[in-house]
Amino acid sequence: MTETVSIIGAGIGGLTTALTLKQKGLNVNIFESSAEIKPVGAGIILANNAMQVFQKLGIQDKIEKAGNKISFMKITDDQLQPLSVVNLSEYEQKYRVSNIAIHRGELQKILANEIGFDNINLSKQLSKIKKNTLYKLTFEDNSMIESKIVIGADGIKSVVRNQLFEKSTLRNANQICWRGICEIDLPEKYHNELNESWGKGKRFGFVKISDKKVYWYALANSKNVETSDINLTEFFSEFHSTILSIISATKKEQIIVSDIFDLKPINKWQGENVCLIGDAAHATTPNLGQGACQAIEDAYVLGKLLDSGLEIQNTFAVYENLRRKKAHTIVNTSWSVGKMAHIENSLGVWLRNFAMKNIPKSANKKQTDMIFNLN
Ligand SMILES: Cc1cc2nc3c(=O)[nH]c(=O)nc-3n(C[C@H](O)[C@H](O)[C@H](O)COP(=O)(O)OP(=O)(O)OC[C@H]3O[C@@H](n4cnc5c(N)ncnc54)[C@H](O)[C@@H]3O)c2cc1C
Repeated sequence: MTETVSIIGAGIGGLTTALTLKQKGLNVNIFESSAEIKPVGAGIILANNAMQVFQKLGIQDKIEKAGNKISFMKITDDQLQPLSVVNLSEYEQKYRVSNIAIHRGELQKILANEIGFDNINLSKQLSKIKKNTLYKLTFEDNSMIESKIVIGADGIKSVVRNQLFEKSTLRNANQICWRGICEIDLPEKYHNELNESWGKGKRFGFVKISDKKVYWYALANSKNVETSDINLTEFFSEFHSTILSIISATKKEQIIVSDIFDLKPINKWQGENVCLIGDAAHATTPNLGQGACQAIEDAYVLGKLLDSGLEIQNTFAVYENLRRKKAHTIVNTSWSVGKMAHIENSLGVWLRNFAMKNIPKSANKKQTDMIFNLN
């Protein structure tokens, strides 16, 4: 009999895992707390490593069509003068995939359509999980199921992690984040690049995600922001005029605000017939743009282990071993980058910008090689 795997959470991690397992011939049953596969009103950058996985899953073309190709990633000063540039063409040629910026809703739609909505149970918020012979899962609506194999893809505040694993710690980065999407005619030179502009204790990133749409994000040290409902044009007034035009073109009520947290690295992501993937296992700050990409790599590794002939429940310990080092390196590097990006005093900013301009190309390349190389 084919095994059925219960996956908690239909975020990018849960959906990619479900599609992977389904393609390997397993039955999947996803339980998602939201009433719909909710398109968060923001974009996402799928770096080369994630796109390599989607290529293997056969959905590269659909994602490329729905998104926009990115060939350069630039850190700049507040006037959009480059401090550091990563040219992605070498990786495009090596792996035959590009970095793609896309609306999150579009990505989720592609994944959900591939999996089939029959396998996705909405309005099913897991409230309790207990191990007897099988796992007993109880949902907020008091319904209950039993399942032999469970994958917790339920995000940074994972119920599966909190109830089955040792106590873990969420770390507050003390940064507030605004995200938005607007329609604007960006100058052509920005069409195929991500720009992240660093100022004093704040930064602003933007990238084109389709013909008409631009996704942007902005972060600031929380202590300098009394309320999240501030006038962002004023707050970023010293930044380049393109950035101010992007903010002005965004409907205020559509801006998403969140505080930035990560999960202090934990070593145990799996137990008997259960495992954690994505943010549930290794949530990171967004500074390397790798959180979802790492969730997608988790799914890839599970799939690869199934290909090697292991039964799904026997892949979990090997998966944890294979994935831990890279995922934790990303969490820790991203945490440090976030601190550096938010230096506030003028001398510190000058020194940082000077150092950024003088980072040897080989150091940037080493980090990018590590990130884009699949486990
Ligand atoms: C500002 C910002 C920008 C980012 N930019 C990027 C980027 O450019 N590239 C990138 O790769 N990553 C980026 N990330 C990180 C990325 O968003 C996350 O790492 C990714 O969404 C994690 O996916 P996930 O499926 O593991 O978890 P989630 O996206 O959190 O999904 C978890 C799912 O589980 C559901 N759920 C939760 N609890 C329960 C429950 N009890 N029962 C049932 N369902 C439940 C939720 O509703 C949700 O659908 C960014 C993050 C932030 C904050």
